[in-house]
Amino acid sequence: MSRLESKQRWVLGIGGILLTLLLAAVFTFGSLDVPFHPKSWREVMALYAVSSFITAALLVFLLILGRTTLRLWVERRREQLGARFKTKMVVGAMALSLLPIVFMFIVSYSLINRSLLLWFPKPLEIASGETQKLLNDLGRTQLPRLRGLALQVQSERQRSGDDFLQHAFAKGADAVWILDQAGNVIRGGAVCENQREDRRGVICVESNLPGKFLRSLLSGIEVWQAGDRNFFGARVQDFENGEPTGFTVATYRTSPGVLTRLAAIESQTQEYYQAKQDLRALKRQMLLILLFFTVLLLSAVMWVALFLAKQVTVPIQALAEGTREVSSGNFDYQVPEQAQDELGVLVRSFNTMTTQLRDSRAQIDEFTRSLQQAVQELERRRQLMETVLESIPTGVLSLDGSGTVLRMNTSVLRMFGIHEPGLQSLEVLLGADGARTVQHLMRRSLRMGVVSREMETVVAGRVLHLAVTVSSLGPRRANTGYVLVLDDLSELLRSQKTEAWQEVARRIAHEIKNPLTPIHLSAQRLSRFLEKRDASQQGASPDPELEKLVQECSRLIEREVSTLASLVNEFSQFVRFPAAKLTSANANMIVQEAVEVFSGRLDRVTLKSHLTENLPMIRADAGLIRSVVVNLIDNAAEALESSSFREIAVSTKSLADAEAVQICVADTGHGISPEDKDKLFLPHFSTKDRGTGLGLAIAARIIAEHGGSIHVEDNFPVGARFVIELPVAELTPTTVGGHSGSSTAL
Ligand code: ADP
Repeated sequence: MSRLESKQRWVLGIGGILLTLLLAAVFTFGSLDVPFHPKSWREVMALYAVSSFITAALLVFLLILGRTTLRLWVERRREQLGARFKTKMVVGAMALSLLPIVFMFIVSYSLINRSLLLWFPKPLEIASGETQKLLNDLGRTQLPRLRGLALQVQSERQRSGDDFLQHAFAKGADAVWILDQAGNVIRGGAVCENQREDRRGVICVESNLPGKFLRSLLSGIEVWQAGDRNFFGARVQDFENGEPTGFTVATYRTSPGVLTRLAAIESQTQEYYQAKQDLRALKRQMLLILLFFTVLLLSAVMWVALFLAKQVTVPIQALAEGTREVSSGNFDYQVPEQAQDELGVLVRSFNTMTTQLRDSRAQIDEFTRSLQQAVQELERRRQLMETVLESIPTGVLSLDGSGTVLRMNTSVLRMFGIHEPGLQSLEVLLGADGARTVQHLMRRSLRMGVVSREMETVVAGRVLHLAVTVSSLGPRRANTGYVLVLDDLSELLRSQKTEAWQEVARRIAHEIKNPLTPIHLSAQRLSRFLEKRDASQQGASPDPELEKLVQECSRLIEREVSTLASLVNEFSQFVRFPAAKLTSANANMIVQEAVEVFSGRLDRVTLKSHLTENLPMIRADAGLIRSVVVNLIDNAAEALESSSFREIAVSTKSLADAEAVQICVADTGHGISPEDKDKLFLPHFSTKDRGTGLGLAIAARIIAEHGGSIHVEDNFPVGARFVIELPVAELTPTTVGGHSGSSTAL
């Protein structure tokens, strides 16, 4: 049994005892003959004690009632949990009990009133008054007769002894006494008990029978006692020589218990009138007692109502506290069991529920932890995947079922030369034709899973050779999208073409070189033969026309052969390209040296250089790179010939992300068409009459040997821009290049 339970039992026990005592008090007081007319100090004390107790108890209970009501009101104002229920219970109980209690109060009060009235009934009051009057009338009628008798007896007082008594009794008296002035009996006597009514003869007397004055009645009649007999009498004053000497008392005999009865009547009457006098006080007292019991009952009702309400509200409060704790996440909270009945079941169920919740939360926590681990693992894999996707040069796009681009890696942006991040549609990336082709591939991939094909598209003014692979992410009905993989084949194709051209150049050089020397020698021999013959014949030529023709032809053959030889030499140089000797070099320095080559040689052309300071060193063969830059400036100068505004800008900058240095040669010349951009770096391509088309091909090879890249873009607003990117040698910035950042106009 819990502490609380035992405490409750104690309270219940004490409450029960108090209630029993109070009920006992109710019955006791109800049947009490309360001493309202206290006759001794003890009764006064008792009356005061009872009155004080009742008043004090009444006050105490009134205070308890008031305090409980006030507490309830405060609890209600504060909207304390359970206050409304308590109020309802108390108000309900009070309302239920108030009617019978008030009814009982009124009935009891009226009953008491009636009972009190019954105590003083009218006939009794009349009888009492009449008795009193009767006594008085009796006295008033008897007294003159007795006085007269006493006067008659007084006249006989001179007689002595029995004679006096004989005469006195003969006059009708039953007993006579002579008293002194102080009222003491001097002499006298009474007739015998057995004396006949007829007193004409000798009368039997009991002389010297001492009489005893008992009391005088209200009417003035005196009551005397002699032996065991009682007498009513009256006295008259005796005089001797005008002086009062004493009294003469004449009496009639009366019944022996008359005095007792008289006393009883008198005392009862007096008590009756006294009680009647105290009736108001009695009524007040009764009202007080009734009020006390009413308040007591109301307090008891309120107490019981509160006790019952607490039986409900305390567990409900505990449950509310529990709910609050649980809602704030404390699943370890257990509601202390304070209820026995259905609420106890509720509390136990609540505790079971919180225990289950705690277990479930532990399971959920465990599950969440493993889920978090799984999510972290997934995130790690996703990041790895993303890093892989972002670091590969291949462009990867994911598309939904309708062909809308959902994701793309940066290689796609790089490939298509897009600088703003964000998603682009297939039409924007590949153009209308390209997008149509991809959509066709997407449809095919639904049947075949994965499909590939090569395609060309013009991007930022250059032709892009792409290998497009489309994979569908499911069969036609359950397809959730596609993955589009784009490989830029331009570089590969270019190097393949370069290799093919190298082979062609090597064979042509080989095939052409062999017959060139005999042709050259034959032409020289022909020329020399004609010269010798001219000298020997001294101007007499048999056929001067033929001679002139042969001489012209042999000179032409010699000149063209030497042109052909130089072409073959360039072809050979292209084929037998010297291996680059890579060392640490300063890009700014290389550019400056290249620019200096053109110092004072360019006609009406502005050559500017914008060199970024603190460029990192590059790993390069400075001579080869310089020849490339010289070639680019030379080409730019040639492209400017027909332009009105002629400017060549050479610049350098560091590409921190790519760990590379960029060299850029831009001109304001006629620019390059998209188709030509693709062919530009091939050996055979030239738009010039006597151009070999090898310059850019060699430049591309040199840059490739350095592990770098070269490409051409449109210059803004006109012209072409050749961009070379070379990997850095080390990460520390170089201090070489004092001219860096300068802008030179040549
Ligand atoms: P070549 O100079 O012998 O023609 P190149 O390989 O140096 O051979 O150049 C190939 C072609 O590229 C040129 O014929 C020219 O049409 C074009 N070209 C090169 N540089 C430029 C330029 N800066 N502006 C316009 N076209 C250029």
